[in-house]
Amino acid sequence: MNGSSSEPVHLQYGVEHWGAGYFEVSAKGQLVVRPKRGDARYADVKEIVDHLVNEKKLATPIILRFPQLLEHQLDRLHDAYDAAIREFKYTGKHCPVFPMKVNPRREVVEELLRSGSASQFGLECGSKAELYAALSLEQPAGSLLICNGFKDQSFIDLALLGQQTGKQVIVVLEKIGELQTVLKRSQETGVKLWIGLRAKLYSKGSGKWASSGGDAAKFGLTTSEILECIRVLKAAGCTDRLKLLHFHIGSQITDVRRVRNAVKEAARVYAKIRQMKVDVQYLDIGGGMGVDYDGSKTTFEASINYTMSEFANTAVYQIRTVCDEEHVPHPNIVTESGRVMTAYHSILITSIRDEIETFPEQAPAVAIEEDDPQVLQELKEVFDKISTKNYREYYHDALEDKDELHTQFNLGLISLEDRAKGEVLFWEICAKAEKLSRAAKIPEDEFSSLGKILASKYLCNFSVFRSAPDSWAIAQLFPVMPIHRLNEPAGDRATLVDVTCDSDGCIQRFVDLKDVKDVLEMPAFHAGEPYYLAIFLVGAYQDVMGSNHNLFGQPNEAHVVIDADGRYHIPRIVAGSRIGEMLAFAKYDKAQVWENFRHLAEAQVTAGRITPEVAAGLVRQYEADLQRYTYLE
Ligand SMILES: *Cc1c(COP(=O)(O)O)cnc(C)c1O
Repeated sequence: MNGSSSEPVHLQYGVEHWGAGYFEVSAKGQLVVRPKRGDARYADVKEIVDHLVNEKKLATPIILRFPQLLEHQLDRLHDAYDAAIREFKYTGKHCPVFPMKVNPRREVVEELLRSGSASQFGLECGSKAELYAALSLEQPAGSLLICNGFKDQSFIDLALLGQQTGKQVIVVLEKIGELQTVLKRSQETGVKLWIGLRAKLYSKGSGKWASSGGDAAKFGLTTSEILECIRVLKAAGCTDRLKLLHFHIGSQITDVRRVRNAVKEAARVYAKIRQMKVDVQYLDIGGGMGVDYDGSKTTFEASINYTMSEFANTAVYQIRTVCDEEHVPHPNIVTESGRVMTAYHSILITSIRDEIETFPEQAPAVAIEEDDPQVLQELKEVFDKISTKNYREYYHDALEDKDELHTQFNLGLISLEDRAKGEVLFWEICAKAEKLSRAAKIPEDEFSSLGKILASKYLCNFSVFRSAPDSWAIAQLFPVMPIHRLNEPAGDRATLVDVTCDSDGCIQRFVDLKDVKDVLEMPAFHAGEPYYLAIFLVGAYQDVMGSNHNLFGQPNEAHVVIDADGRYHIPRIVAGSRIGEMLAFAKYDKAQVWENFRHLAEAQVTAGRITPEVAAGLVRQYEADLQRYTYLE
């Protein structure tokens, strides 16, 4: 529909802005991934997908995980803090920990811990299950294990187990009541747990998660509660256990000024506590370092107005300045960055299966006869005469005619054939009007929403609810683009729908440098030809928050590594959910469903409708289908 432009479609997607040096378009017009920014090596994603589909017989959706991107993001984070520490002659260390809630997958956490041995990368957990998993993982010597979140006694007991098995555990108090339990259990077991306090700051973040900070925040201790904790610890003679002050003002902070304000405030609280002769050694500044999903480098919610280095410089400089003013030692800086660590490392590959037609584009031209109803005559006239000069007015006439058409049909005045003719005419008028409005280059809401309705709807083999749940839940933007044909012109404007039976299962907002697009410009889909799209930056939060709507489960998954010679390897393939697993999730018992099905088949035999041989065949097929992939194959 966008026939006017012949420039290559990849210029539409802005991958050079949000790709962070990992994703690019090759001269062949295919998506490539680099293991590091600035690295000469790259892998062609279309080749990888062809290999997985043709040789390994995997169907889409497929998650591609690139562990090297986890490693490189961690290096970049640590280097940014190291450089800031050197530049500002800061005397504390940087101690990164990984917040497990962002992506608790074992492969992800293990890869980060392995890559982080030099930086003493630790872990942060917010629930008993995360802590339980953390206790099983080998952490770099000297790294921290920080326990945030609301805690009961069994959570604290689990932390005690960790402490006794050599982990450097810090229990961060979210509620004042937790202190009593920690002290009681420490006394009963004789194990001395390190304690942290989570402060409720006055400063807020910015963007979608701003309400995680500020007076009304869900988490943290007020100033008087902090003072009360210190008083209780002093009375118990164990202020030496208080090692850390923590805050977290929310994820995806879009504006670096918010970071500056929050760090300043927290550093002041730290300094005042220090001056009370409490030897706090760590200032934990939480997560919040964002990802530039749309590449615009702005304070828009899908973006951030800073680089990793600017964030790190701001934090280090502010803490140093406050500490020097207050004459207290520089604390070690703990960071809990999760989103920016993991977002890049995984992309979801889906394929277009079909097009859902709003109106039949290839419908035969409608012939209107003289004795056809008046309303059809009118629509035909609008269709013939609509032009640059009158498209607004004529489009409104057509809307009225369409209402009239349906009214007359409901009254039994016109036939089903006439209704069909009228509808085809109406959509053809819409298409003309939308084109005329686009050519006029006067943006009008009415016609841009018409453009969205008229855009092709491509049915893609994935579930939004499983693989990009934030796109549905909080309207988060993720970059989407084809992985091949990127040198072709944009022949089509489309929105994407998934395979769930849920009308919310769709993607209708796309990243843009200046705006949010409501259609994706892309080369046209031709039925029967493989056409793959990627959804990017889904490595943070999406894996764990994805749900089993419609019992579509985990996609197939392949881990991809690029070797020293620039060849890709697939060390690991994890099969996606089979029907059987999803039934088990919904508490169906395999033996029971098979037996029930066998009864159905036997009843048909008893009733003489099928032979025992046919029944046996049906049963065999039903049993075998338990192993099928839940998505379209
Ligand atoms: C969620 C969370 C994080 C991670 O934040 P990101 O913005 O993903 O880096 C860190 N700390 C705490 C306490 C959290 O709740």
